[in-house]
Amino acid sequence: MGKVCTGRNQGAGSLRTPGRLQRNPGTGIQGRMVRHVIVVGAGPGGLSVAINLAGQGLKVTVVEKDTRPGGRMKGLTLGERGEYALDTGPSILQLPGVLERIFLRSGKRLEDYVKLVPVDPNTRVHFWDGTYLDTSKDPARMEKEVAKFGPDKPRALRAWLEEGREKYGIAYEKFIATHAGSLGYYAPWRLAPAVRFKPWQTLYRHLDSFFHDDRITYALSYPSKYLGLHPTTCSSVFSVIPYLELAFGVWHVDGGFRALARGMMKCAEDLGATFRMGEAVAQVRVEAGRAVGVRLASGETLDADAVVVNADLAYAAQNLIPAEARAGSRLTDAALEKAKYSCSTFMAYYGLDTVYSDLPHHLISLSESARRTDREALEDRVLDVEDPPFYVCNPCVTDASGAPAGHSTLYVLVPTPNTSQPVDWAAAERTLRERIPDMLAKVGLKDVRRHIRAERYFTAETWRDDFHVFRGAVFNLSHTWLQLGPLRPKVKNPDVEGLYWVGGGTHPGSGLLTIMESANIAADYLTREAGKGALPQWPYVPPLEGRPAAQVSAG
Ligand SMILES: Cc1cc2nc3c(=O)[nH]c(=O)nc-3n(C[C@H](O)[C@H](O)[C@H](O)COP(=O)(O)OP(=O)(O)OC[C@H]3O[C@@H](n4cnc5c(N)ncnc54)[C@H](O)[C@@H]3O)c2cc1C
Repeated sequence: MGKVCTGRNQGAGSLRTPGRLQRNPGTGIQGRMVRHVIVVGAGPGGLSVAINLAGQGLKVTVVEKDTRPGGRMKGLTLGERGEYALDTGPSILQLPGVLERIFLRSGKRLEDYVKLVPVDPNTRVHFWDGTYLDTSKDPARMEKEVAKFGPDKPRALRAWLEEGREKYGIAYEKFIATHAGSLGYYAPWRLAPAVRFKPWQTLYRHLDSFFHDDRITYALSYPSKYLGLHPTTCSSVFSVIPYLELAFGVWHVDGGFRALARGMMKCAEDLGATFRMGEAVAQVRVEAGRAVGVRLASGETLDADAVVVNADLAYAAQNLIPAEARAGSRLTDAALEKAKYSCSTFMAYYGLDTVYSDLPHHLISLSESARRTDREALEDRVLDVEDPPFYVCNPCVTDASGAPAGHSTLYVLVPTPNTSQPVDWAAAERTLRERIPDMLAKVGLKDVRRHIRAERYFTAETWRDDFHVFRGAVFNLSHTWLQLGPLRPKVKNPDVEGLYWVGGGTHPGSGLLTIMESANIAADYLTREAGKGALPQWPYVPPLEGRPAAQVSAG
């Protein structure tokens, strides 16, 4: 396996001759000079790496099976004339500075392609006892909200935010925006500054030690679901996620996240990348231990010096990488079957002839079942159709562009088991279609059934079959200790030279933010292999307000 590249300027300038085998100072591996990179998939990971690489002057060809970019983020339209446009996947952008920086380092401005819109409140979280909490970036407003649960809570919030601030400063640089290419990631000198934050504690225990109230604890820790975990099984290191939502706010993209996918594709094209849309890759070609291109489903072969795979990692390993190239690695079929995966989601997408304008953009309902800690619930083995927790996106209160005047759209996400569990998905769909409009009254969305003009539903099987997501586990490999950092499948494949992974299945993780960081990491390896040195302006840690911009070097 290659040595981790550290330091921003290492490896620059010494590999100038194309096509020759030579030792790469960044990786220590005999390799071919990288000039042309094929990216398999135009999801957020593939789009981010395409911008990064094309921006540094590499030749980039993106091959995408779909006719539209975005993958899980591509969006859909409903209605006879397609008058309702909805997002299909991500609806919350965290830490927009990381996305802005991907454009900036390529000499582009994000605002020339898409407009980001802050959303406030961040989310309204309804609890099992009928109370609710509006989370907000505004400290005064947030303190007022937590005070509803006891006079001691604002002080607890201030203490938790202060700790979060210190943790963010360390965690982002050391554990997220870094290669994690070797076990050196866990070197004592790297871990030492983090020890005082007790990373061995669960997220639940950590938050409870500040708030002593399950409602606030679950409101802040519920995102662990999107890490494939439960607050009581998730490490407290992930408290950095709710922290950065409260410190930086959450962001919507004008025109929806599908507009972000289109904007990123346009930016990559402006930088010279070529997109081959509607063309599926059938296999990544591996010769003599090196990725040398791809074979398309049409039979055509394309050559490249390196291949970056953005298609869902477990799906792509099993279906696109030859078994011989995976033998003995952690990407064999057997190893992938044994790995732990996240839940899936049942999705209801509605076009409505009304607008719920007095309700927030993001709504969560935490039923009693969110607090279940029996094994079946913790491992997402049960489908709760009676009283499940759920999330609702009500985007038209921020951005009316997705529906005709006086109309709106909603999407509802109900966590479900993935397809490894024996669920009758057709029956589950029938039940949830019937139940969801009634469930929505719990978060103030009354009479939805009466207003539905168009609808569509996804089950775990839709994610598996239409989106090529292994087991329909939309949040990829769970973020357990054994599937984190260097123990997660690596961005730079250690067994096949010139093969890289970007997206939710690799390091650092499955959210948009971490997916973009995987693309930064892949680009950093590849710009070095192209003889262009480290990826400029990376790692980049978005500064907290009132602090100078932090640009740090990898450790
Ligand atoms: C419902 C839902 C809500 C989410 N909400 C959020 C959120 O609010 N915030 C957040 O940060 N994250 C969220 N996520 C998680 C994550 O950000 C998204 O799942 C993200 O879109 C995944 O991006 P990706 O690049 O890893 O993969 P994908 O989006 O799956 O992209 C992979 C691409 O590869 C293509 N592909 C597959 N097979 C082939 C092939 N053989 N040949 C060519 N192309 C191929 C696919 O068509 C696709 O375009 C959400 C996910 C889901 C599903």
